[in-house]
Amino acid sequence: MKNNGQKGILIVLSGFSGAGKGTVVKKLLQTHDNYALSISMTTRQPREGEQDGVEYFFTDKEQFEKTIAEGGLIEYACYCGNYYGTPKAYVEEQLGAGKDVILEIEIQGALNIKKQFPESLLMFITPPSAVELERRLVGRGTETAEVIANRLSRASEESEGIEAYDYIVVNDDLEECVEEVHELVNASRRSPVRRKEFIKEIREELHSFTKGAQK
Ligand code: 5GP
Repeated sequence: MKNNGQKGILIVLSGFSGAGKGTVVKKLLQTHDNYALSISMTTRQPREGEQDGVEYFFTDKEQFEKTIAEGGLIEYACYCGNYYGTPKAYVEEQLGAGKDVILEIEIQGALNIKKQFPESLLMFITPPSAVELERRLVGRGTETAEVIANRLSRASEESEGIEAYDYIVVNDDLEECVEEVHELVNASRRSPVRRKEFIKEIREELHSFTKGAQK
């Protein structure tokens, strides 16, 4: 569906670490051209194979806090001892250009975005079960047992906040999950909160008909 000059939708994708969000987002970007992915800033160390400016903008605590002070982030949070934040300029620019901007962020950030942008779309991606989540975290092979335990405990805390999201999407079959997310984004374009201009115009036209009929 075309945007017809509408501003893009601000989409928040959250999910437990290991839910496969990254893969869902990658596939979404490959298969549909209406999306732009925001690259976050973080103070965590790059994992093997991660590149600065691709997965994240990797930085140190001092620079991160300077960016906060300058108002350069839309939101930020501390997650497992590291800062993560969304740079403001890119998001504003892409939304203005009509792109649907994806923020792949955790729950505190998601709630913060909903407060600032009530018309944003919050989706929670989850594996079909907790057992499957643990299997995926262990299978990834990039984290120590301690980090995995930490992430599972964080997942347990995060599960308390799922109701704050607009939709929950189960990532069992990747292709199905990607299409489900895409359909939800398209459906949300038809929500009255995102068609304010259209509603205003049709109201004015109807109003002028009514006035004409009264003459
Ligand atoms: P990871 O270290 O596994 O890449 O990310 C850890 C968590 O931080 C994930 O839940 C991820 O979605 C979240 N995250 C990544 N970037 C941001 C951000 O800019 N803001 C917030 N609030 N969370 C983020």
